[in-house]
Amino acid sequence: MPVPPEVSGTMSHEAGPAGTRAGEPGGPPARALVVSAPGDVSLEPRDRPVPGPDEVLIRPAAVGLCGTDLDILAGRIDPAYVRYPLVLGHEWSGTVLAGGNGSLAPGTRVVAEGIVPCGHCGPCRAGQTNLCETYDEMGFTRDGAAAGYAVVGETLVHPLAGPVSMADGALVEPASVVYRGLSAISVKPGRRALVVGDGTVALLAVALLGLWSPAEIVMLGRRPAQAALAATAGTARFETDPGAAGGGYDLVVEAAGTTGAVLTALAAARRGGTVLLLGLPPHGATAALPVDDLVNNDLTIRASFGYTSDAWRDVVRLLNAGRLGLGFLVTHRFPLAEWEAALGTLRDPDPAAPRGKVLLTLDG
Ligand SMILES: [Zn+2]
Ligand SMILES: [Zn+2]
Repeated sequence: MPVPPEVSGTMSHEAGPAGTRAGEPGGPPARALVVSAPGDVSLEPRDRPVPGPDEVLIRPAAVGLCGTDLDILAGRIDPAYVRYPLVLGHEWSGTVLAGGNGSLAPGTRVVAEGIVPCGHCGPCRAGQTNLCETYDEMGFTRDGAAAGYAVVGETLVHPLAGPVSMADGALVEPASVVYRGLSAISVKPGRRALVVGDGTVALLAVALLGLWSPAEIVMLGRRPAQAALAATAGTARFETDPGAAGGGYDLVVEAAGTTGAVLTALAAARRGGTVLLLGLPPHGATAALPVDDLVNNDLTIRASFGYTSDAWRDVVRLLNAGRLGLGFLVTHRFPLAEWEAALGTLRDPDPAAPRGKVLLTLDG
């Protein structure tokens, strides 16, 4: 179990004299979406931080919301992985305001890794930054980016190329989660793949699987309204009935985050196949497994947590090279002031309309 650090962040603050704008040095506070405790969320003023020597001050432009944010709000996250109060927002892109020792000019459009690895523990040294022994992540154990300012360690910042949109950038975080999982298993070209789930992670799994040239990708979802998004992502078929989706898949990606979906995924793999678990059921959820089937079917089961720095670098490289597009997944945008409507869209999607990524926008 990761050990949460005693303190988060190294930022200090400066006062804002009258006559300056939010975002300028010494400017007035900007608003941040703060979760004080489970069930207690509001917009609060936050001063402009001063970045430390190896930190970058960034103005967030787009912040994606996901089911994990709802879990943070509801207090459903394993307490070892969250510390209140916190500013929400772990999927985001923005523009450099200051800092970075000159390597990142003000105005540079960037994304930033949210997991803050210590850099010297065994897993960090082995490149497994997702398993750092001191778990620390923006939007979980330290402030996230649904705010006027974000401060990030310089080594975690990745510049975006000109054509890459802020919406693309806001999806790098969940895309890196999926990419890391797919990279951890040996996907061979020409294979048949099933993705269980129809949310953003599932849709990203379809889009990223395309990099490994599968023969076919089928999505097993629950909401028919997601079919068009699934097709855009690259599915050959979208099914809502497990029987219609069938079985015998070389690779099954579980991206729904329910124990039922895990059992469905295990049953849909062919003998000798691989099942990748990306979804995150509520803390403490358990499932009864048909263990003899797992053995008889010679299954490889792989679970994957978070992302590594390597995964981020690869995803940003693919985006910047034009080999990957992610922004098509954004179906809803709300200004920060309309955060309640954004969370409502996430919590209770219109069953008749497609719902991909819900973004908060912070421009202007
Ligand atoms: Zn997320
Ligand atoms: Zn570490």
